[in-house]
Amino acid sequence: MPELPDLEVIRKFLAPRLTGVAITAAEVRRPIVVRNLLGGELADHLVGRRFTEVARRGKFLLLGLDAGTTLLINPMLAGRLRYGAPLARPRARDVLVLTLADGHELRYHDAVDMGKIYLTDDPNKAPAYAGQGPEATDPALTLDAFRQRLRKHRGEIKGVLTNQAFVAGIGNAYADEILWRTGLYPFRFCSDLAEADVARLYVTMRAVLSESIEILRGRVGAAIDVEVRDFLAVHGKPGQPCPRCGSAISEVTRRGAATHFCRTCQPGIMVER
Ligand SMILES: [Zn+2]
Repeated sequence: MPELPDLEVIRKFLAPRLTGVAITAAEVRRPIVVRNLLGGELADHLVGRRFTEVARRGKFLLLGLDAGTTLLINPMLAGRLRYGAPLARPRARDVLVLTLADGHELRYHDAVDMGKIYLTDDPNKAPAYAGQGPEATDPALTLDAFRQRLRKHRGEIKGVLTNQAFVAGIGNAYADEILWRTGLYPFRFCSDLAEADVARLYVTMRAVLSESIEILRGRVGAAIDVEVRDFLAVHGKPGQPCPRCGSAISEVTRRGAATHFCRTCQPGIMVER
């Protein structure tokens, strides 16, 4: 699932390539994934329009168009964007293919149809967009602001970190990484965290996200449809040795999401409340 660092690298890649470029054709191949909030045919709203910007908010990518409209992409679990020379043949799970005036194409692909593409005149009309908290990387999100927001949440720290209403942009993978590096048990309740724990969590969250963006910028290149996760310490590596202590990395699946962590570096006991 693309998270803040993945989408930030995609945004930086696409912004100079799309801005100012016109769409010459738009083909919807899987309508179930596309929500046209303007009505009518999607292609009629897109063809002839130019991209004005490529932006990101939380786990959404926003492609602004000169009609004042926005293509809002929420890749969810498996949505992938591909930019480059046109493919000779469509792939089974291609959702939307945009042909560009400069000879390139932008293609959105979703292996499980869980993501969504919205066309809207106001991104706040898309479900789950308006209620997002501040960006996890927002300079205005100071330690004090982070602490105050955390006080409103009662749940387990992993669940709170991945709650987009708390801070926007962190999903399952980066939450695991942040908690491992902080040395916090993922199922500890926020209300049990000491002041020093919260401070370490905040500093580590910022460090993990900014470092990951830099790593991904060097690794991803033009292959923005490939998710690079191998540099993460624990996520996606259950059973492998913890890079810090060598203990086998644990996996706990709750509410459909697998959490990977080190029981030695992140000690704790699961309690039901
Ligand atoms: Zn460890």
